[in-house]
Amino acid sequence: MARAKEVEVKVKTSPVGSKDEILRAFGIELGGSVSGVARGGAFVEQPTGPKLATHDPSTGKVLASVATATAAECGAVSRSADEAFRRWRMVPAPRRGEIVRRLGDAFRERKQDLARLISLENGKIMSEALGEVQEVIDICDFAVGLSRQLYGNQMHSERPFHRLTEQWHPLGVVGIISAFNFPLAVPGWGWAIAVVCGDSIVWKPSSLTPLISIAAQKIFHEVTRSTEAEGIFNLVIGSGATTGEALLADPLVPLIQATGSCALGERVSTAVGKRGARAILELGGNNAVAVLDDADLDLALSAVVFGAVGTAGQRCTSTRRLILQRGIADAFVQRLARAYATVNIGDPLDGETLMGPLISADAVEAFLDGVATIKAQGGELLHGGEVLPDRGGYYVQPTIFKSRRDMPICAEEIFAPILHVFSVETLEQAIDLNNSVPQGLSSGLFTTNLHSAERWLSVAGSDCGIANVNAGTSGAEIGGAFGGEKATGGGRQAGSDAWKAYMRRQTCTINYGTELPLAQGVKFELHDA
Ligand code: NAD
Repeated sequence: MARAKEVEVKVKTSPVGSKDEILRAFGIELGGSVSGVARGGAFVEQPTGPKLATHDPSTGKVLASVATATAAECGAVSRSADEAFRRWRMVPAPRRGEIVRRLGDAFRERKQDLARLISLENGKIMSEALGEVQEVIDICDFAVGLSRQLYGNQMHSERPFHRLTEQWHPLGVVGIISAFNFPLAVPGWGWAIAVVCGDSIVWKPSSLTPLISIAAQKIFHEVTRSTEAEGIFNLVIGSGATTGEALLADPLVPLIQATGSCALGERVSTAVGKRGARAILELGGNNAVAVLDDADLDLALSAVVFGAVGTAGQRCTSTRRLILQRGIADAFVQRLARAYATVNIGDPLDGETLMGPLISADAVEAFLDGVATIKAQGGELLHGGEVLPDRGGYYVQPTIFKSRRDMPICAEEIFAPILHVFSVETLEQAIDLNNSVPQGLSSGLFTTNLHSAERWLSVAGSDCGIANVNAGTSGAEIGGAFGGEKATGGGRQAGSDAWKAYMRRQTCTINYGTELPLAQGVKFELHDA
């Protein structure tokens, strides 16, 4: 986002085409019906689970209907994914990387088409939708390099003529449960890495954004058809209660990557923990930006508006709490309210729009409930707070409240563009307030003071998985490991060494001597052997 006195960013995009053209680019008819289940490199023709209608959040109208999977059909999909895994794990990792390279190329070619579909079905603005596809391309590039760097350690053995080493093997079928708000990128952080690690995939996307996963699945089929990767990508669209629970219980699925609310995380940990499987949990956030008196305020303003209003407040990393040091607090809030008033709300496919709709009627209800609760608990409304019914669809106003930290609602993630503002005297108080909530995903401090910056990043600073200085809470790059602490789940995805969660580690001792010395000097000698 450009640095500006008042935040007024115009995003220019090319003409986007009509809604039926956007769908037809992936062989989907407006108002038509499509299969939401795929295994063995092809869609299942007539899955027998209930039909699911997907909506355009900018109008509330139905886009298409999706045939979902029953629990029994999910079982057949996992068995097929497990068979594909047994073949795929034998393919050398650099050759697995070559398939991911081709996938990255295919996503590059279809970037505009995919972004238009994301914007249509999810409601995020085109610039952010393009960024989401770019994230998939970037993680594919990262994964291709990784396919030659799945390194294990070599340790010096304490025993003579012994070698001690560690190696990484493919794990199995990875179940990817994804949220509506990053329908392509976050699952992509998982599958691109899992596939070079030698795993196969069963993807259960959000029921709010099924068409995006169907479009991606079509690309997987095109790229992997008649290759050694055929069948490694599988799809089960359906409700959490049916397809989600089927994945959680399936003994053929040793790893669940789950993105969603903290409540989902609790359910996944219990179900997966019970059968001794693993989970990568990427859950809700309640992210704060703290602005000190010595901060560059233009920079802070841009970051806060993008963080709180961007994606209509529907990012896990959205800025939900703003902590202002007393000296700049009043003036900053006034500038913020003026900046909010300039935000263009409208059709996400229109290049002039900065904020699109919420995802659903339920999300609008949650926004209204949130506003009412904040007021009831003593929050003072500074901006917004209303729905925009005249536009059709699920539009609300970006909203600012002056809140107090003892209001219980401030500890909750309301998945909407609502920002709580607090003021503090000192950096210590800002850190304490940042860390006071159950979630621990993302955080940002704005300061020009080196001591304050380092204090924020120190062991006694921000307790979040992501801690930034002079950068906002949202907009992470794929190169770092992404995830959060505490109720956010502790999982890590994407770059750095997040790949290790998608493989099984094996420690190997090789004795190339003629004696059998035991570790720690233990003696165990047989006398009459
Ligand atoms: P959600 O929890 O409602 O749903 C997420 C997914 O879980 C969906 O696919 C849903 O069908 C599935 N699900 C629901 N119940 C299930 C069950 N019993 N068993 C298995 N699967 C089940 O979340 P949402 O509304 O789609 O997304 C918003 C939430 O996701 C927010 O809390 C946001 O912060 C979080 N999120 C976190 C990250 C992160 O990386 N930390 C990224 C994106 C979104």
